[in-house]
Amino acid sequence: MKSHAKAVVIGGGVVGCSVLYHLARAGWTDVMLIERSELTSGSSWHAAGGFHTLNGDPNVAKLQAYTVQLYKELEELSGQSCSLHLTGGVMLADTPERMDFLRLAHAKGRYLGMDTELITPSEAKAMFPLMDEKHFVGAMWDPVEGHLDPSGTTHAYAKAAKKLGAEIVLRNRVLELTQEADGTWNVVTEQGTVKAEHVVNCGGLWAREVGRMVGVELPLLAMEHMYLLTESMPEVEEFNQATGREMVGVLDFKGEIYTRQERNGILLGTYEKACKPWSPVNTPWDFGHELLQPDLDRIAPSLEVGFRHFPGIANAGIKQVINGPFTFAPDGNPLVGPVQGLTNFWCACAVMAGFSQGGGVGLALSNWMVNGDPGFDVWGMDVARFGEWASLRYTNAKVRENYSRRFSIRFPNEELPAARPAQTTPLYDTMIANNAVMGDSWGLETPLWFAPKGTEPKDVVSFRRSNDFAHVGNEVRAVRERVGVTEIANFAKYEVSGSGSEDFLNRLMTNRMPKKGRITLTPMLNEFGKLIGDFTIANMGANMGARAGEDRFMIWGSSAAAKYHMRWFEKHLPKDGSVRIHRFDQTLVGLSIAGPQSQTLLQKLVDVDVSSRAFRFMDFREMAVGGAPCMVNRITYTGDLGYEIWMQPAYQRLVYAAIKEAGEEFGLVDFGMRALLCMRLEKNFPTWFRELRPIYGPFEGAMDRFIKLEKNDFIGREAAAQEQAEGPKLRRVSFVVEAEDADVMGDEPIWAKVSTDYGTVEKPHGYGAPRFDATGKEVRGSAAAEGASAVRGIIDGAWRVVGWVTSGGYAHHVDKSMAQGYVPAALAENESRDLFEIEILGKRCPARINVEPLFDPTGEKMRS
Ligand SMILES: Cc1cc2nc3c(=O)[nH]c(=O)nc-3n(C[C@H](O)[C@H](O)[C@H](O)COP(=O)(O)OP(=O)(O)OC[C@H]3O[C@@H](n4cnc5c(N)ncnc54)[C@H](O)[C@@H]3O)c2cc1C
Repeated sequence: MKSHAKAVVIGGGVVGCSVLYHLARAGWTDVMLIERSELTSGSSWHAAGGFHTLNGDPNVAKLQAYTVQLYKELEELSGQSCSLHLTGGVMLADTPERMDFLRLAHAKGRYLGMDTELITPSEAKAMFPLMDEKHFVGAMWDPVEGHLDPSGTTHAYAKAAKKLGAEIVLRNRVLELTQEADGTWNVVTEQGTVKAEHVVNCGGLWAREVGRMVGVELPLLAMEHMYLLTESMPEVEEFNQATGREMVGVLDFKGEIYTRQERNGILLGTYEKACKPWSPVNTPWDFGHELLQPDLDRIAPSLEVGFRHFPGIANAGIKQVINGPFTFAPDGNPLVGPVQGLTNFWCACAVMAGFSQGGGVGLALSNWMVNGDPGFDVWGMDVARFGEWASLRYTNAKVRENYSRRFSIRFPNEELPAARPAQTTPLYDTMIANNAVMGDSWGLETPLWFAPKGTEPKDVVSFRRSNDFAHVGNEVRAVRERVGVTEIANFAKYEVSGSGSEDFLNRLMTNRMPKKGRITLTPMLNEFGKLIGDFTIANMGANMGARAGEDRFMIWGSSAAAKYHMRWFEKHLPKDGSVRIHRFDQTLVGLSIAGPQSQTLLQKLVDVDVSSRAFRFMDFREMAVGGAPCMVNRITYTGDLGYEIWMQPAYQRLVYAAIKEAGEEFGLVDFGMRALLCMRLEKNFPTWFRELRPIYGPFEGAMDRFIKLEKNDFIGREAAAQEQAEGPKLRRVSFVVEAEDADVMGDEPIWAKVSTDYGTVEKPHGYGAPRFDATGKEVRGSAAAEGASAVRGIIDGAWRVVGWVTSGGYAHHVDKSMAQGYVPAALAENESRDLFEIEILGKRCPARINVEPLFDPTGEKMRS
């Protein structure tokens, strides 16, 4: 075993081997994988081996498509077969709601280049004759699904990595990890110590234990999972002989079941409601190539439905039941990337679908380690997306919820109940008493909307407009006409102080830093000139409590990105100690008042002049509000006249009570996050992680006025200058949509009637997938080609999918359905009524770009 390596990968499951292969392929050949036992000694060896591209997050779906595409290349490189069976798969809908869900998934697939297709139950039956079609209303066909040999695939990654120069050490447990002052890691193993620049945790079932070696409690938990294998079935053999192909994979949402052909029988697995965690606190080190005791009673309810839906399987004998553990994060997506607070300690764990995601995870992580950026939008699986509140017990509750809901519909207005409340502000009980419907905002309970007294504060979950519609509308109108108050504790807040603060922020941010007592809005870019943050920054001024000669800046950003941004800030902190950063979390909370009466209301609460001349738009001031020391920003996300008021939690009840009392004469209302998000739509304001994400450049994101290329050499300046010089390819735009009873949710395709192919519709998977007619025969040649192009929307050479929606909803004040999204820049200023359509739940609705905001286009009200 070598004593030094550029990187040590801990764990030889499918994920560790993929990371090793991708690092070596990216040019880091001085890399080493250390495995406790033999390769595949965790969950990888007993996996059912299924793979698919579909994922709720389109960016994760893209990486899944890459994984599937990689297998051919891997087989050629390694000389090791993965036993690929690209059968295609069918998802069965038993209700109209589930069909809506499939319509959404199918629509998303249009701009991801996926050739999915909506089909009838009898078309599905032609591909999988064991089903009884009377239980279903429709289905979706995805040609890029199948299954493989888990062990062969893991070894294929390992062999390919070794061919490129990587080393693999087996039967050698990593016992301890320590770090030298210069950042070098000591990887202490049973066979000696390896010095490494980077360490990657691919510990799978033991990833928590590996995390604990460096003082990190990773939010992941193993769950028991069962699948059964039937004896040979004559129906399967007959189908194979008659059609010359294998049966397709089938997913039955109602039964929480997945099935596929295995030899001449069927493999059937369940995600049962009565799910069971495995080793909830510690994973035993002596657990090896073992299986757990099957418990058919636990999955009996799913089997009952399954046998009804697939009578062919009900009569088959069960040959074997497999029960094995594998890990999940609270939301079911992997934990990938550098761990905030540590240097060169990386994660690739909680990969619950290693054979769909392992390749993409390896590619993104190796890009990140070698080039400093994952190269894709990996927010959906970034280890930084969970805060400290994601404790062992939180994770346990959420993973069980996620597992038991794996095949349930998640509606866009649905808040999940497990592990709540995790964090509350001092106003929590007051908000509940005010009949607030609460939502989970990065672990914090936040009012979404207020139900009228006497009605139950509860969302009726739906893909369409629901019971909150009228009430959110009332909140919006009251704010626009009078004044409203809302909680804004769910922002990330930081203080940057020290003599080097201004230089530090100027290096990180695209906009100029504000003068003392002023506020600025600024994006933040990575080295590749892509958007990685969007902040409000106030210069608190040296005379406002800072040490002599030091600057102090307050920064507000997205709470979900708090750790993601801290990781970036810490990476770029000067080494001389001239800058300090403090993240507040809920030690600083806030309230916002907005609307035409908000200035008069604030004046009643303070003893200083807050008239528009004394306290201008984008001013920052420390002042007592209702007698409590507060920081006040003259700015609001509603885009109206308004204020953000920040205080320590001990003062929040006092300030809120004072606002409520003083506001009575103006008809003050409480409003929630949903109203706030509606109001920003009619101002064309973007939101972080929806409109603004690391796949877009600042000019694509229409953030032009905040990008000061001439100010100094900030990170990403060169790439941004190039984007501006060449002109952005895409552009963020706002639409008014002629919607009926459902507004956009995000991720819908945008169609345009144009003659040029703008190239935004891509095909991420590289090899052909089979298609079948209703009798189960494979379709080849022109019929298949026509079908494929119809799916992509190029029917008559005119209507094409040219972009995608990022978010939207109903803008109640202007009384219109609105959406934001990205389209080719050449179309971004075309306000023609007949150019665009947005597909909502399978229906294409006319949509029209509005370049200027519909509310207060000149910003007069905001500045007044
Ligand atoms: C019953 C079942 C069915 C499944 N079906 C599918 C499916 O159809 N499709 C799919 O994509 N996925 C499926 N999965 C999930 C899949 O198995 C996992 O996603 C995958 O195995 C995760 O791989 P991994 O490399 O992250 O972890 P693991 O396979 O657990 O590998 C981790 C490795 O790290 C080693 N290790 C840990 N700590 C140390 C240490 N300190 N020192 C040295 N080595 C260490 C372990 O020995 C182990 O070999 C299934 C899982 C189960 C249990």
